[in-house]
Amino acid sequence: MHILVTNDDGIYAPGIFALQNALRGIPGARITIMAPDQNQSTVGHRKTLREPLRITPVTLTDGVGGFACSGSPADAITLALSGYLTEKVDLVVSGINSGPNMGQDITYSGTVTAAMEACIMGVPAIAFSLDQYSDFDFNHAARFAARLVPVFARQVFPPLTLLNVNVPAGVPKGVKITRQGKRLYYDTLIDRVDPSGRPYYWIGGGVPGGVYDDPGTDLWAVNQGYISVTPIELDMTAHNLIAAIGGWGLDFDGADG
Ligand code: MN
Repeated sequence: MHILVTNDDGIYAPGIFALQNALRGIPGARITIMAPDQNQSTVGHRKTLREPLRITPVTLTDGVGGFACSGSPADAITLALSGYLTEKVDLVVSGINSGPNMGQDITYSGTVTAAMEACIMGVPAIAFSLDQYSDFDFNHAARFAARLVPVFARQVFPPLTLLNVNVPAGVPKGVKITRQGKRLYYDTLIDRVDPSGRPYYWIGGGVPGGVYDDPGTDLWAVNQGYISVTPIELDMTAHNLIAAIGGWGLDFDGADG
């Protein structure tokens, strides 16, 4: 089993090192690390099509080799799977992210969009994130990854679906299979003036919150101290609205002028 390990925090982040280290313990697993050369958190599913990309072989702690690439996490996956790696990749594992990716975070997250890019390219994928904002301890998340990955690898998972895993801080109480919950963001506009008198802006605000009292959601499970495993599908169609919108009577005849 050839596993491609990636992340969005950058190839030198501690979370990816902990992840690849744990996955090396899976019997029969061969690991390739290819990840952004810088922190690419919150870039979403950015794909670089209008500038060149570079790939640099690097050596991490303990002599572990990897490939650092310019561009986004999705770029790393595209580069790896479209020919840079000559050996077929069986599974992509992304993370372990420093910080959670729950609710609507997954639309911003490079950790999750790397997994999305993999499943768009037909390779099964899992994203792992740790619900902690400082003093990161990846131990439990890494051990759970080493437990989940071989189980996942034996499944026939439908196309365009992936697993999004969030691990609580501290010792997990267990595992809950969940659905996406609702995040609450507290973005604020910080309006300043640069030394030449021109205004500039920061998007500020605190750590996001969320609806934690909705049982069965990712936010609920992690807030209760459980590991959350959420199956995600890339079909974003609101299927239950198709009939309703069909009833709006929309029509268009190009010859109407
Ligand atoms: Mn990140």
